[in-house]
Amino acid sequence: MIRDFLSQHGEYHDDRYFKDLTTLKMGGHIRHFVMPDNPDDLKAIVAFLKSHRIPYKVIGNGSNLICGESEYDGVVICLKKLNNYIIDKDEVYAEAGVMVPALASVLARNGLSCLEFASGIPGCIGGLVYMNAGAYKGSMADVVLEVLTLKDDQLVWLKNNELNFSYRHSIFGDHPHWVIVAARLKLEPKDAHELEDLIADRLRRRKETQPLDYPSAGSCFRNPEGDFAWKMIDGIGYRGYKVNDVLVSDKHSNFIVNTGHGKAEDYLSIVYQIQDKVKDKYGVKLIMEVEKFNC
Ligand SMILES: Cc1cc2nc3c(=O)[nH]c(=O)nc-3n(C[C@H](O)[C@H](O)[C@H](O)COP(=O)(O)OP(=O)(O)OC[C@H]3O[C@@H](n4cnc5c(N)ncnc54)[C@H](O)[C@@H]3O)c2cc1C
Repeated sequence: MIRDFLSQHGEYHDDRYFKDLTTLKMGGHIRHFVMPDNPDDLKAIVAFLKSHRIPYKVIGNGSNLICGESEYDGVVICLKKLNNYIIDKDEVYAEAGVMVPALASVLARNGLSCLEFASGIPGCIGGLVYMNAGAYKGSMADVVLEVLTLKDDQLVWLKNNELNFSYRHSIFGDHPHWVIVAARLKLEPKDAHELEDLIADRLRRRKETQPLDYPSAGSCFRNPEGDFAWKMIDGIGYRGYKVNDVLVSDKHSNFIVNTGHGKAEDYLSIVYQIQDKVKDKYGVKLIMEVEKFNC
């Protein structure tokens, strides 16, 4: 019954694994996986799952998730097929599944400043809004005008000041069943070459400082106020520390990478060790930026 319904409203699979859907490349089998074709199908799927009390998880590019090995006995709804965008004068309407680095490039090429800060963040619009992703002192809170939200079976626009944005947080973190369907972002005209150069420079800096040749979920911990997680991790001597195939990167110690067949349990064992030792040494509780799911 579930399979039939989902197949009518999107691309359905029962042979997907989190390890193939996340940038960290870890995680087990997903009982039901669907990619809705459009917002109406998404709405129908969510209403169906809620009415049947079937658990579900919405994902974008899976670049902030660490998933366990056990089977997820629910439905993963991946929004990558909701990937339309429309540029209209001083704003862009982008569906939740639009990949941000690609959109940032298109906007820059057209002399439209907006997502330069996010050009190296390998996620979708929905994922970046969800966690108010940011870099280089910019964040989604600075550019989002409003968000089309599937909330209590209705599509409603929520304005920036209703989204409770703060450091790596938005209202969506408090309402895991709401779905970000699309966002309107503000654009500012600027010189296209300058924007493209800025993006190229930042991507070059990321390559120099981050272990992009290994699967990861980006920074593992949030930076504590006025400090840097990587400094504390270095301070307890964990740069280069390894558990099986999971490694605290030598290049950037706030990146914990998968060097082969790493498992969430190994990743989390490193996380908990770091948290304990940092607490003992600095009296600070490091908070995970990466989200644990199904583990
Ligand atoms: C190499 C690398 C570098 C990174 N650099 C940065 C950085 O500089 N700054 C930064 O902030 N992050 C960074 N990240 C982390 C990550 O890319 C961001 O958190 C990004 O916002 C996640 O987007 P996603 O589409 O992959 O979301 P996913 O990982 O798929 O999902 C993350 C969370 O968002 C929820 N979600 C996703 N889409 C929706 C939706 N449409 N509606 C409701 N909920 C949704 C999911 O349920 C989940 O809880 C980096 C990651 C990597 C791998």
